[in-house]
Amino acid sequence: MLRTLFVWLSESRALRAVAERSSIGQRTSSRFVAGTTIEAVMAATRSMNDLGLTVSIDNLGENVTNPDEARQSAALYHQLLDEITARRLKANVSLKLTHMGLDIDEKLAHENVCALVAHAVRCYNFIRVDMEGSPYTQRTLDFVRELHRVPGHEDSVGAVIQSYMRRSRRDVEDLLAERIRIRLCKGAYKEPHELAFQKKSEVDANYLELMKVLLKSGVYHGIATHDEKIIVATEAFARAEKIPADAFEFQMLYGIRRDLQQKLVRDGWRMRVYIPFGTEWYPYLMRRLGERPANVFFIARNLLRR
Ligand SMILES: Cc1cc2nc3c(=O)[nH]c(=O)nc-3n(C[C@H](O)[C@H](O)[C@H](O)COP(=O)(O)OP(=O)(O)OC[C@H]3O[C@@H](n4cnc5c(N)ncnc54)[C@H](O)[C@@H]3O)c2cc1C
Repeated sequence: MLRTLFVWLSESRALRAVAERSSIGQRTSSRFVAGTTIEAVMAATRSMNDLGLTVSIDNLGENVTNPDEARQSAALYHQLLDEITARRLKANVSLKLTHMGLDIDEKLAHENVCALVAHAVRCYNFIRVDMEGSPYTQRTLDFVRELHRVPGHEDSVGAVIQSYMRRSRRDVEDLLAERIRIRLCKGAYKEPHELAFQKKSEVDANYLELMKVLLKSGVYHGIATHDEKIIVATEAFARAEKIPADAFEFQMLYGIRRDLQQKLVRDGWRMRVYIPFGTEWYPYLMRRLGERPANVFFIARNLLRR
């Protein structure tokens, strides 16, 4: 129920407007969001790299409603790619298609993202297209497939699959047929029973099944979860199947299970941290609180301490 409440809150435009402007809101978000500026996210990236972790940087924002906003969002990602290269950081970027204008004009979003992938190719980098709610699933996968087919783009763009979606097994097979890199996660949105598994046990079982398909595919994928049981099962599967530690990576979110992130690196696995930054942090934070309502108390305690 709490998860449903937070997903509903994440969609409230009125609350979002108030929260993102308030100083208490900005303090609240700092545990999960690395500040609002490029400088702040570059510093956070550097500190992760120093610990042996790679990074994926996400400029927070989704569902933009006019073409100028979409172009500005794309321009910021171009700047991120240049900054990562200039500072020799070990980082790629993650973006959402609705941040690039998908809701306004599919052609505009395509132009924006295609130019970003071409930029990533030039600087040997990589663009991960995040997966949003189910109204976007098919369009996002088609989009990534189209970008990936452009000659030269093969190693510079990848997709995300959510294990809560009933269709994901088929989607994984389709993406693997074209050797597209996948980030596997559980899924963060509220989806109906017809489309998505509702029980954690079913979502986890599907995750484990898909993880095995991915690891055996010979393509470089990301296993994105904080679920220790799944992580242990992934390690065991990789060892049993003699899949080298550099053939895939674990991924986690900034500020979540930092202990486990560092343990995986110490144990010789690859670990990438997804670092969001920017002023539009409200929907992202609400989804994180919904995943673990105990975070509300954690954040409240930290606010009181300051
Ligand atoms: C790198 C990365 C990228 C992602 N990209 C997408 C995407 O493109 N689309 C999408 O829909 N979702 C995305 N997600 C979110 C994902 O779908 C889940 O909502 C989120 O990761 C929580 O699921 P879990 O696998 O950690 O397992 P859960 O079963 O939710 O949690 C397992 C354990 O992890 C810890 N944990 C989980 N969440 C939190 C939290 N918020 N705070 C503190 N502890 C927590 C707890 O110990 C919990 O018991 C991404 C996640 C990661 C790590």
